[in-house]
Amino acid sequence: MEIPPDTRLVALVGDPVAHSLSPRMHAAAFQARGLPWAYIALRVAPGALRDAVAGLVALGFEGANVTIPHKVAVCDLADDLDLSVRRCGAANTLVFREGRVVAHNTDVEGFARALAEAGVEVRGTAATVLGAGGAARAGCAALGEQGVRRVAVLARDPRKAEALCARMRGLFPGTAFEGYPLEETWLRTALRNCDLLVNATPVGMHPSSDQSPLSEGDWLRPEVVVFDMVYNPPHTRLLQQAREAGCRTVGGLSMLVHQGAVSFELWTGVQAPLDAMKRAVGLLPAGV
Ligand code: NAP
Repeated sequence: MEIPPDTRLVALVGDPVAHSLSPRMHAAAFQARGLPWAYIALRVAPGALRDAVAGLVALGFEGANVTIPHKVAVCDLADDLDLSVRRCGAANTLVFREGRVVAHNTDVEGFARALAEAGVEVRGTAATVLGAGGAARAGCAALGEQGVRRVAVLARDPRKAEALCARMRGLFPGTAFEGYPLEETWLRTALRNCDLLVNATPVGMHPSSDQSPLSEGDWLRPEVVVFDMVYNPPHTRLLQQAREAGCRTVGGLSMLVHQGAVSFELWTGVQAPLDAMKRAVGLLPAGV
């Protein structure tokens, strides 16, 4: 395939990157908008991140997505940090402008837009978040921004849950963030007292798609909305349990598309073609 010399380039930087849906999604988006842009996945080992980012800038790339394991380390390499990054301490998008590297975290807005698109109003409600890593930070920041009343964060290392909650309490004093161990008793108590459950752990992700963070689906009340950030497979065991319990569900592909749409708009200044991006990741059937 010929890549003309005036093609504008965006990279995905991570390790591994082979499984990512982002190259397909952004290629479809550039094509739908008629933009002469290309998106390339580059496997970058942890020790090579600094050279890789400097190299992308030197080569005239427009920006990049950053994924595991670089989302935290890349913050130290940026010249400017967007508010979303300062809140989460992690970045997933870089924009290169006049030699400067600006870091953003579009997972925050992507999660919020996915909730809104599903018609889930969270202001004043109570949420339970499973996990205390990068995705959980983004989810908690979005829930704090939206005026959620209380967020219980459950993690297998409760010190990480508490550290995340301490950070969020400083940012969003109107929301009560509380950290707990990710154990059956705490989980069942949290589920009895929440309106929204967010899985921000990789439990249930391919190849362990028979697993769920809930050993029993009947811990769920039908009033709870269940949001699984895992998108591979799109229909996780947790979402299946939630549907069987009569809960509304939101899958991770929706967040993937919306965080990608925000990144696309930051790089190009053009409104993202959501339907083309949804078709590319299988969220809409071809031809819709
Ligand atoms: P991360 O930074 O590595 O954090 C993962 C969190 O899950 C950590 O708290 C980790 O605990 C916990 N965890 C890992 N394995 C676990 C297990 N077996 N049981 C209980 N807890 C476990 O990863 P991340 O970036 O937050 O990603 C988490 C998930 O969200 C992944 O599946 C990722 O694909 C998904 N995600 C989706 C989107 C989207 O657009 N839909 C965006 C971002 C992330 P420890 O700290 O103790 O290891």
